[in-house]
Amino acid sequence: MFSQLKHKVYTLSDNFFCLTAPNKSRFPFCNGFLLMGNETILIDTGLDKDTLLAVDKIKRIDTVIFTHSHPDHILNWHLFKDRQIWMPEETPPAITDLHQLGFRFMGTEEKAIYWARLIGDGLGLKPFREPDMRFKDKDIIESGPFRLKAIHAPGHLSDHYCFFEENSQTLITGDIDFSGFGPFYGQPECNIKLFRESIKKVMALPYNQVCASHRSPFKGNATGLFETFLNGFERHSQAILDLLDAPQTVPGLVQKSPIYKDMMPDKRLQETFESGMISKNIALMLETGRVLETDAGFIINDTRFAT
Ligand SMILES: [Zn+2]
Repeated sequence: MFSQLKHKVYTLSDNFFCLTAPNKSRFPFCNGFLLMGNETILIDTGLDKDTLLAVDKIKRIDTVIFTHSHPDHILNWHLFKDRQIWMPEETPPAITDLHQLGFRFMGTEEKAIYWARLIGDGLGLKPFREPDMRFKDKDIIESGPFRLKAIHAPGHLSDHYCFFEENSQTLITGDIDFSGFGPFYGQPECNIKLFRESIKKVMALPYNQVCASHRSPFKGNATGLFETFLNGFERHSQAILDLLDAPQTVPGLVQKSPIYKDMMPDKRLQETFESGMISKNIALMLETGRVLETDAGFIINDTRFAT
């Protein structure tokens, strides 16, 4: 059915597909999930335009649903602006204005301008329109044989959702994405504790296949994948602690780039996200007593090991 598409298509069950994007479905793209029930539903519009237009020609898409409002998940939403658009209940109005969305993700006016230009002019993201429907935690979207349960999974963003298709026992985990980088929590509304709880909540579901937004689907027991991803928080903590033999400030740590290891091409985004992730990680380590705050900066708490 999808033989003319350039990128791989995985069949998840009858009339349920995972469509992949260029760049191995990594930023600025993500996988799209297509459910052809009584209506044709697409989850996330982060596929490239050619793929989206080709799919829509093969089977007209009636409804688009979003896992969350990061630009790589809503990228080409405007191709479907005349269809049903369903967003999470928690998605803020900032989505209708790129500058406001930039402020939400970057935290200052100046960086919001930079972000809006980068994502608007650079990637072609259009400001959203008001959605036709909002879904919330535990809502079930029924269409033909499908029963798609919305699962609020905050932490990565406040409006991050996973979906569980009950009949095929398919779990769509969005940006609980099992990447080697580990969890991303570098923006103001991100929350490590909620992120951890969300991962633990969805990994307990009775799935038989797991589909994340930026890698190919995985059949069978994915406990190892979930645990490795959860360990990413601790790996980030350790990378920070390794630098705290002497007191360090957050800007000083950001310059040393323990989390991104200077691998991100856009240094302005890297600094912003690294600063966010370091601050949140340290806040948690202060709470648990692994780090102390001194006048000169943060330092590892060695008193725990004193005899
Ligand atoms: Zn995301």
